[in-house]
Amino acid sequence: MSTLLLFSLLLQSAFALEARWLGVAGILLTDRETTLLIDPVLTKPNLTHWLFNRPFSSNQAAAKERLNKLGIRKVDGIFISHCHFDHASDAGFLASHFKAPVHGGDSLKKIVHHHDPKAPFVMAEDKSEFQIGKFKIKMFIRPHPAIIRPIDWHFLGGKIETFSGNFYDYREGEVWMFIIEHPEGVTIFDQSSVFFEESRKYAGRVDNYFLGVSNPEDKDTLIKNNVKLLAPKRVIGIHQDFFFLESDYLSQWLLPTVDLVHLQQEIQKLTPTPTLIIPERDQLIRLDP
Ligand SMILES: [Zn+2]
Repeated sequence: MSTLLLFSLLLQSAFALEARWLGVAGILLTDRETTLLIDPVLTKPNLTHWLFNRPFSSNQAAAKERLNKLGIRKVDGIFISHCHFDHASDAGFLASHFKAPVHGGDSLKKIVHHHDPKAPFVMAEDKSEFQIGKFKIKMFIRPHPAIIRPIDWHFLGGKIETFSGNFYDYREGEVWMFIIEHPEGVTIFDQSSVFFEESRKYAGRVDNYFLGVSNPEDKDTLIKNNVKLLAPKRVIGIHQDFFFLESDYLSQWLLPTVDLVHLQQEIQKLTPTPTLIIPERDQLIRLDP
């Protein structure tokens, strides 16, 4: 084979997907042509937000610095699983900074347009599908699990009726899971341990399963229901870091409810055994098919 032919074949071959975990549940997913952000959170609250319900929004200077460090110059779509502060607070800033549409429901629209009434926003409904580059993103409404299950207690549950930008205005809103199809692999992004029936159609075909691992009641149900049924190639654990307060020191902590040893042990019992990835913040995660 001539060098030239080899070279042109290499150029034609598609790039595998790549991801970066941005902290909390934030994911950057890219095929190097198209870049999606899911739950991108670059800003954390401080004590005064918790105590005095102060206005809470993107720390734009810090966010820009971080985006520069990561070399993110273009974003094509933003998706937010629900409207709690640790998932949605940077959506408005990122939408207007990158001129990239945020996709979601009424509650999220209020947050985004509170930041910038001109920020691009695409209204989504249950089972909406969006084609962005080679990515096909399907959005499904699903319930947010109760934080304290026996008493069905939700942290700031319900829709956002009026949003004035205060910390406790970031209510749950519409809650979504995402199934993302791409020629280089199927990716599921789901925060909840309660198995979502729509996922079943993808059993055995899931390459990348982004899974929140912070809820203590989830340790076993996550593995025994979701991971076992879906049999993904790899599980990427997210939402494992301390996100309640802005602090370089604290953000290196795992949440006390996360038990990585147990997670690894349970995953190893499965056949086929998925690869478990617990990413470092901002580090490149290769998602080869
Ligand atoms: Zn969260």
